[in-house]
Amino acid sequence: MSGRLLVRGGTLVDPVARTAAPGDVLVEDGRIAATGAPGTLAAGDAAEVGARGLLVLPGLVDMHVHLREPGYEYKETIVTGVKAALAGGFTSVACMANTEPVNDSAAVTQFIIERARIAGGARVYPIGALSLGLKGERLAEIGEMHRAGIVAVSDDGRPVMDAALMRRALEYTQLFDLPVIAHDEDEALCCGGVMNEGPTALRLGLRGRPAVAEEVMVARDIALTEVTGGRLHVAHVSTARAVELIRAARARGVRVSAEATPHHLFLTEEAVGDYDTNAKMAPPLRTAADVAALRAAVADGTVEAIASDHAPHHQDEKDVEFDQAAFGIVGLETTLGLGLKLVADGVLDLPALAARLGAGPAGILGIPAGTLDIGVAADLTLVDPERRWKVAARGFKSKSRNTPFEGWELAGRAVAVLVGGRLVYDDRPATPTLRVAS
Ligand SMILES: [Zn+2]
Repeated sequence: MSGRLLVRGGTLVDPVARTAAPGDVLVEDGRIAATGAPGTLAAGDAAEVGARGLLVLPGLVDMHVHLREPGYEYKETIVTGVKAALAGGFTSVACMANTEPVNDSAAVTQFIIERARIAGGARVYPIGALSLGLKGERLAEIGEMHRAGIVAVSDDGRPVMDAALMRRALEYTQLFDLPVIAHDEDEALCCGGVMNEGPTALRLGLRGRPAVAEEVMVARDIALTEVTGGRLHVAHVSTARAVELIRAARARGVRVSAEATPHHLFLTEEAVGDYDTNAKMAPPLRTAADVAALRAAVADGTVEAIASDHAPHHQDEKDVEFDQAAFGIVGLETTLGLGLKLVADGVLDLPALAARLGAGPAGILGIPAGTLDIGVAADLTLVDPERRWKVAARGFKSKSRNTPFEGWELAGRAVAVLVGGRLVYDDRPATPTLRVAS
């Protein structure tokens, strides 16, 4: 074998050139060697990957995933999480530190990287804890974890309530050019709430988490970023005013980025409906006005990344009273389909979607992914935009089933995925083998 591969007959979606046009991709030794108009590349003896009728995107990047290993293997493992990622079209995922033990040391970082190497398939980038044990008291071993391979630090799942600690993190991470990913919700203001504060919570008799709990923390962290010159990434931004704060800060040159989740882009607090625990997450689903503001921010680039916040939980942790249920939902296998729905809804065009699910998050994390540039690793996601499918959690590759999108009809899904030029996922319809009669 020559190690040459021609991805032929598809539509290349290029987030950098902002184009979507017919073209082929030539892969050599795991890297993109050339792209060109259909039939123009000198492919020689290259093996062929048929992409007729398919979109060819730079491999998708999910910068906010909980893989649960080590410690919570009954919810997810690195192996099942990677399978779910590939089925969802993701070639790279960044995994949060709230495992058991917490990823607050080089030993745990190395463990995750080693398990991911054995799992094979998608690339896994660990995110280190900001504080030791996620306790919010002392900085974790950030330098040591950086040498071991982390791409960001975060106490995600828990807000950093100590502003002085957050300030130190924003200062110290500059030595390594690492972003600080903030889960911005003020715990005192959230007051143990389980859904968005407002009339729906009142009607259901549930305690609310107010929008302002997020907004004061986003404002605080922007102020600390401005003063330190650090780099802040706001995870799962969910309110209109938080978006406004981020937009204004970016306009005056503060190094702040943000991500939005599909659930915050599609669902409102009404989804809690009759106490559906699959609509329970933190920050909570908000109002229609917040959804509209988030969509506008994803469209204009204020929000550079769409991330799933894939948070697998066992059924026993969701089949309980709303107050008691775990926060979070799975998302790796529905994010692309919902992203394509944003395209259908006119919020984004295809190159912009490829940016929010690729170049955007890759740029924030500083990982070499998300483009079709010559010489980069040939991570490609082939999408059938016409394939209609119904979300059915029982068919997920993930170990967990907690999705609020069960039964949704979506158009478009990943049908083949290449990582480093290797076809690691293939769900294309079987091509009939032609035999030449002798
Ligand atoms: Zn999370």
